[in-house]
Amino acid sequence: MKNPEDKFKKVISHAKEYGYVFQSSEIYDGLSAVYDYAQNGVELKKNIREYWWKAMVQMHENIVGLDAAIFMHPTTWKASGHVDAFNDPLIDNKDSKKRYRADVLIEDYAEKLNLKAQKEIKKAAKRFGDAFNEQEFVSTNPRVVKYLSQRDTILKRMGKSLENEDLADVKNLIEELEIACPVSGSKNWTDVKQFNLMFGTKIGASADSAMDLYLRPETAQGIFVNFANVQKTGRMKIPFGIAQTGKAFRNEIVARQFIFRMREFEQMEMQFFVRPGEELKWYEHWKEERFKWHLSLGLGKENYRFHDHDKLAHYANAAADIEFNFPFGFKELEGIHSRTDFDLKAHEAHSGKKLQFFDHELNKSYVPYVIETSIGLDRMFLAVFSTALQNEVLEDGSERIVLKLPSVLAPTKAAILPLIKKDGLPEIARKIMNDLKFDFNVSYDEKDAIGRRYRRQDAVGTPFCITVDHDTKNDDTVTIRYRDTMQQERVKISDLKSIISKEVSIGNWLQKM
Ligand code: ATP
Repeated sequence: MKNPEDKFKKVISHAKEYGYVFQSSEIYDGLSAVYDYAQNGVELKKNIREYWWKAMVQMHENIVGLDAAIFMHPTTWKASGHVDAFNDPLIDNKDSKKRYRADVLIEDYAEKLNLKAQKEIKKAAKRFGDAFNEQEFVSTNPRVVKYLSQRDTILKRMGKSLENEDLADVKNLIEELEIACPVSGSKNWTDVKQFNLMFGTKIGASADSAMDLYLRPETAQGIFVNFANVQKTGRMKIPFGIAQTGKAFRNEIVARQFIFRMREFEQMEMQFFVRPGEELKWYEHWKEERFKWHLSLGLGKENYRFHDHDKLAHYANAAADIEFNFPFGFKELEGIHSRTDFDLKAHEAHSGKKLQFFDHELNKSYVPYVIETSIGLDRMFLAVFSTALQNEVLEDGSERIVLKLPSVLAPTKAAILPLIKKDGLPEIARKIMNDLKFDFNVSYDEKDAIGRRYRRQDAVGTPFCITVDHDTKNDDTVTIRYRDTMQQERVKISDLKSIISKEVSIGNWLQKM
């Protein structure tokens, strides 16, 4: 699976074949960028959510949970800026009828100029060897200077036009640069229009009294509007956090990356309220903590990197993404944002209610500053699943497909397999299953030869297979086979629970943080 595109296709087809992710409403040919989690997917997703929840809520005495409704008062979205500013500028090609984000078309063009410059730099580096002074070359080579200054001029102009809402100029820029539609090759464009990413709906029975609502585009606002309620009833003192997981909805335009970019997805967010002036210290703290959480799952440090934002959202004074090496390259997995007091202040202004904290140590009230950690559950699922899926060539030259999920996240922890379907072995196997099922998700399988059953469990990601054979009847021992090493061990039935527990307990995994 060297080719990334092949790898991504394999991930998608494996997710379907082994009951992880299905296209939504598939019998009606599906709904674009909407997916359903199947029998194994729902378990993996639940386990990731729990792993996050325990790390955030259970492990911190000053972080509590919340489950706010998806529907919120419409003024929420006025205050948060989503009604006015949660837009993408769109443009249609009249010949192909394809729709694009105008800013992405221009950014792609600018990136091509950058690539041309990089190519020149690489060529020169090779030519000059050790004597190469990159800084000097970049600032003096006429071609490189031309490419890079063209790129900067284009991006600057686009940024200014978008900021001033001068969409006519964004279209002019596309025409001046002679950007063509990748599908039709034509330059026959419509005007650029702003498109709000929020889904609208109505609440109420009669047409006259119905109120326009939005499906929430992020879970964060449910936390902000509950700030005072939680602070008072929980007697929380600054610094403290509120954590929440739940669905969010965005009418995404470019939605072609499986569960990476969905129109209905789930977020796991935590808003941490701090004293004004202390936000950057806490921002660094949470960047570190979140990175440690990721590393504790063992997906490989090399698969993560930080991307600090240069261009900040209107509410932020510092922001970084944790990017992950997905099958299509490094992309945002989680955002850590220093959101200042923007949200609470905006809700104070729109609601007329005080959203402040009286700090006894300082003997004054203030609107707290906020650090947000926001991760997409579906993106985390994709990160875990795509990294776990491996094609191994064994010593005898045969291949095995194995889903090396972190055992703490695996949907089924152990499969109990009677070697054959007779001689009382199935009964013993069922008894073992019935004992273990109080503590773990386990399954039973008696169909096909034992080797094939092992392979099936490898492909679905079950970390342990427990085989009952004729010796079991005499000495109450079974064979336990480890998914990742394929090693087998003879153990007592009475030890199974502690062996499995040691490997899959969330507590043991979190202690690695
Ligand atoms: P992107 O730039 O990829 O559109 P974003 O910067 O808009 O993402 P945020 O608003 O910061 O994303 O949302 C926080 C997290 O929610 C993201 O890091 C991502 O993991 C997740 N997320 C955002 N949009 C989607 C989506 N359409 N589908 C799945 N997950 C998403």
